[in-house]
Amino acid sequence: MATFTGVGSTPLSGVGTARWFRPSALELPDRPDPATVDSAAERDRFEDARDAARAAIREARDRAAAAVGEDEAAVFEAHEQFLDDPQLVGAIEESIDDGTPAEHAVADAYADAIAQFEGMEGRMAERADDLRDVRDRLLRELLDVDSVDLGSLPEGTVLLADRLTPSDTAGLDPDAVAGVATVTGGRTSHAAIIARSLAIPAVVGVGEALTDVSDGATVLVDGEAGEVVVDPDAERRASVSGVDAPVVTEHVETADGRKIEVAANVGRPAELDPATARGADGIGLYRTEFLFLDRDTPPDEDEQFEAITDALAAFPDERVVVRTLDVGGDKQVPYLDLPDEPNPFLGRRGVRLSLGDHADLFETQLRALLKAAATDAGDDLAVMVPMVARVEEVEDVLSRVEAVAATLDAEGVDYAIPDLGAMVETPAASYVAGALADRLDFLSIGTNDLTQYVMAADRENDGVADLHDPLHPAVLRAIDRTVTAAHERGAWVGMCGEMAGDPDLTELLVGLGLDELSMSAVTVPAVKARIRETDSETAAALAREVLACETRSAVASRLD
Ligand code: PEP
Ligand code: MG
Repeated sequence: MATFTGVGSTPLSGVGTARWFRPSALELPDRPDPATVDSAAERDRFEDARDAARAAIREARDRAAAAVGEDEAAVFEAHEQFLDDPQLVGAIEESIDDGTPAEHAVADAYADAIAQFEGMEGRMAERADDLRDVRDRLLRELLDVDSVDLGSLPEGTVLLADRLTPSDTAGLDPDAVAGVATVTGGRTSHAAIIARSLAIPAVVGVGEALTDVSDGATVLVDGEAGEVVVDPDAERRASVSGVDAPVVTEHVETADGRKIEVAANVGRPAELDPATARGADGIGLYRTEFLFLDRDTPPDEDEQFEAITDALAAFPDERVVVRTLDVGGDKQVPYLDLPDEPNPFLGRRGVRLSLGDHADLFETQLRALLKAAATDAGDDLAVMVPMVARVEEVEDVLSRVEAVAATLDAEGVDYAIPDLGAMVETPAASYVAGALADRLDFLSIGTNDLTQYVMAADRENDGVADLHDPLHPAVLRAIDRTVTAAHERGAWVGMCGEMAGDPDLTELLVGLGLDELSMSAVTVPAVKARIRETDSETAAALAREVLACETRSAVASRLD
């Protein structure tokens, strides 16, 4: 029984058969003498490979459409276009006619196209990944290499990978995948967040040691302990469990009667059902940027209106907090041609783009939101903006909301202005939280980003994972300052970073005074159970003691 340690990402455990996902481990044979190559036979091989790749892409498209929606499935339509691109196909056929075997002809032609995309300005480089994907499908067919089709893995698979992209993860079938473990990646990377939304046990950032695990080994992924166990013994296997608190559909309060909302974070329409099934009290963070990913053009006003009203319909009489577009940083959208910046996390992202280069998209989004707020369930809608650092940004947002309202009014379109809030994700926002709360109805603390900016530790970088720690006294004090300032101004305060979903921190968060906790649906039942066990006076005393700690280790000892 060998045990590897990483970062527990989805607090569930699963056991199954290891399967490595190595999308680029395709070795070409040596090039033969062109005179010995039968070009006609090679052309046939290329055509067969294209047919098989096309069938696989269509299957993947249909599966993605069923699992996460038509919009997400659009990426596969782009893949099919690459497969039939006349320039690429022409270059491959010409090279085959010159005596190149099909696999080398494919590799050469795609290498040129990939290099062209990589050399482009902005985020067109992302298209290079799509080309690699299509090239690898063709090469796997030609080399007869078994591929791992992420959407149709056999039941009981434990997927091992160097890293997974958000799209890879979104394509996984949660009923088939018993667990995921990756060499790199952090708990707050978007791939990890999606795995959590899908309730797939996951451990990330295990390091190179994970590569010692062979395909076919029996592997246990313990996302709570952050362990990957090879050949687990009977006792360890018997411990496989989930966060198995019973689902509670009603709102909960602490043992002494303080109400705390426990909401879900969602990013795709397909995540609404799991969130209701786990008893979430509405949505505390709807990451609308996911509606913009894996497609070629932004969703229009009607499509956004529909997504918002669907979310409101999924949670009758419960609050639905929609976050306006938060692209930039690690969330790149090729067709938006975002600025190429040396430090994208410190650059134009979130509200900075909405008030700057992408004011047009912001206006469309606000139109959809204000119209949705006027529907029957619209009273439950709340809207918040990400990445705020200045009070002036909030003032600018409020005047744009007014301007959109005036336009809708002039057009004779029904609208209403929903409750408005800001995310507190920057140290600056926590320092001016009182002024923000003066102008808004609520604040929501995004601890994933707040931690990275307070600690100057990239949330995606394994090398500083120990610094990206929301329990550092500096982060805790930023949270405390935010809650206190907002409450003094009569605004409510939620938390929607990953910290909110850790049941071991529920008592502390209650003690810090949060009114709402929003998390991946999988941990909603366990957090509700903890709230019911918590006494708010004892929790406040715990928070006071923790806030007095000067070091992370002192915080740890107090929480132990
Ligand atoms: C956060 O930063 O904590 C947050 C909830 O936003 P995201 O993870 O989408 O950046
Ligand atoms: Mg954030």
